[in-house]
Amino acid sequence: MKVWVDKPKCTGCAHCHDVCPVAVFEMKDSNAPDVNSDVAPAEQQWKGQEDPSVYAKWKDVQDGHNHFKEKSVAVNGEACILCQACLIECEGECIHIVDDNNTQYDSIYK
Ligand code: SF4
Ligand code: SF4
Repeated sequence: MKVWVDKPKCTGCAHCHDVCPVAVFEMKDSNAPDVNSDVAPAEQQWKGQEDPSVYAKWKDVQDGHNHFKEKSVAVNGEACILCQACLIECEGECIHIVDDNNTQYDSIYK
């Protein structure tokens, strides 16, 4: 399984980190040298700029999460069992998974 995060859209809510049963995700400081160490395509890598619409939607939301301090990185995508828990919990709708048959699954916040 290939798993990656579209990082400009990641709010840093850590839902993915908290729900994944096989520890695919690590939360990293935006300035960490390995913040782009998953298989995200170039346009979805972190370059220091939040996605404007995601930022506007979540910047003032007080839900106990430390928004926009960290980014999620899929450090262990090979372990993914496609339980899809992260895909329905992702505030930024920015997790993408491709299985061995090349079927892509994208997160939709519910
Ligand atoms: S779909 Fe994969 S990455 Fe997402 S929570 Fe389940 S095992 Fe973890
Ligand atoms: S659930 Fe989505 S928005 Fe929240 S930290 Fe994970 S990838 Fe980022």
